Amino acid sequence: MKMSQLLMPTLREAPAEAEIMSHNLMLRAGLIRKLAAGVYSFLPLGYRVIKKIENIVREEMDRKGAQELLLPALQPAELWQDSGRWNVYGKELMRLKDRHDRDFCLGPTHEEVITDLVRREVKSYKQLPLNLYQIQTKFRDEIRPRFGLMRGREFIMKDAYSFDYSREGLDESYEKMYEAYCNIFKRCGLVYRAVEADTGAIGGSDSHEFMVMAETGENEIVHCASCHYAANMEKAVCAAPQELDAASQEMLPLEEVKTPDIHTIEELSEFLNINVEQTIKTLLYQADDEVVAVLVRGDREVNEIKLKNMLGCIELYLAETEIVEKITNAAVGFAGPVNLSGVKVFADYEITNVINGIAGANKTDYHLKNVNFKRDFQVEAFCDLRLATVDDPCPHCGNPVAITRGIEVGHIFKLGTKYSEAMNATYLDENGKEKVCTMGCYGIGIGRTAAAAIEQNNDDKGIIWPMPIAPFHVVIVPIKANDREIMDIADNIYQSFSEKGIEAIIDDRKERPGVKFNDADLIGFPIRIVVGKKSVNEGKVEVKIRKSGEEWEEQLDQVIPKIISLVQADLEMK
Ligand SMILES: [Zn+2]
Repeated sequence: MKMSQLLMPTLREAPAEAEIMSHNLMLRAGLIRKLAAGVYSFLPLGYRVIKKIENIVREEMDRKGAQELLLPALQPAELWQDSGRWNVYGKELMRLKDRHDRDFCLGPTHEEVITDLVRREVKSYKQLPLNLYQIQTKFRDEIRPRFGLMRGREFIMKDAYSFDYSREGLDESYEKMYEAYCNIFKRCGLVYRAVEADTGAIGGSDSHEFMVMAETGENEIVHCASCHYAANMEKAVCAAPQELDAASQEMLPLEEVKTPDIHTIEELSEFLNINVEQTIKTLLYQADDEVVAVLVRGDREVNEIKLKNMLGCIELYLAETEIVEKITNAAVGFAGPVNLSGVKVFADYEITNVINGIAGANKTDYHLKNVNFKRDFQVEAFCDLRLATVDDPCPHCGNPVAITRGIEVGHIFKLGTKYSEAMNATYLDENGKEKVCTMGCYGIGIGRTAAAAIEQNNDDKGIIWPMPIAPFHVVIVPIKANDREIMDIADNIYQSFSEKGIEAIIDDRKERPGVKFNDADLIGFPIRIVVGKKSVNEGKVEVKIRKSGEEWEEQLDQVIPKIISLVQADLEMK
């Protein structure tokens, strides 16, 4: 490929719309352009990256026996009504009507379409198990599309669905996909982690997310250095603390204290000269039609996913001010569990170890001292209701955990029979008895993976592509595009690479060397070869490795085999 003929509109300045590095660099390197909010065109270099990721995904899915197909993006409402999701999916579902006034949507996912296909075509257990996948465009009407390819309204996904005739079969299919995903992200040259995840609204039991590690990632990951435990923040388990010995549990008399102008837990602990560990935070939540009180230590945060799962509610949010004031008879900020009537109280495990604690008095400007759950208030249940911290021990081995950040690029679920039951996807077993299929679903965000690769691999000059997903392996930069001798050498190198399957691009533009070098660094080609006067006079070229910054001179007759072995070594990081 000649760069002079390539649509590669690089930009010097960061566009104002770019809030994160991958978005910034994808625009500046001329990989993508915005058409509308959350809707992007892939330009030639960007699309090469996408196709490379897709091909790795395809190879690894095929290797595990999955079969590729292609389902329509346009989906009739009837299928979504069948599964019960038409009315609950909300505004993110991109809905439209055809000329006959029939309802359709542009699919954000394909459980309905695939389950419909399988219920029509699969009749017997002999046709199972099946794992069907596609690489296709999805739509989601995000309220606030942002971060470029990270949260778009139109995006490319690989989605796979497995159909088994038993729970054990699903476990096997899931395991295969887990392995495939590990291979995929490893082959993309990315540092990743598989973490336990919450199954949330999709339903089902087991679930793992695949995270590309990056300081800029939006997800927090709790993981253990001593064992394999890793979970996303929503899912991370906080073990119940050890019970205190009886001697440390002497209860002092309850006491009311005036705490005017105290607004935070820190101010409260300072004012009363106590540790924050001694404080009890009381939050009132609206859980569907009910209001519940939740107690956590003052220095902890409520994990709303755990709370939601524990309560089994659909909607959960902090209760409105008026409701809090009505229930506590006090201004917001003074709620406490003592004499709190009309609501169920749920407490985090740690509250059992708060002896002679401080809590709101349900009276404006007052707190209570020496609050003890054994004496002063009733708790519906003690459970794990808080966000994990670095102080928490690993729930598997008890060693310290660490918290790092990542970007979710893949997600696998054991769906079970949620969709097959709702949509009647059945088969006949060995005895001719009708059974429902057991399903799993498995997604990878293709564009997101490209963006995450950039978040993980960049510097102040631009992108540093891992070799397997780089748009080209090598850029050849002739210092003067109008020097016949230099261009001949550059062309020869290019030809030799092409014959050996190395993807090279030649920067034959009539630009200054500085401009060419900047663009090469910005786009992030893994290897740069510079051809100049020295190549003509001494038969030497300059080689530079983008990632390490390593630079050296190489004899012309040596450069081809050397680069080939470098590229191949990087591609075989399997
Ligand atoms: Zn551990």
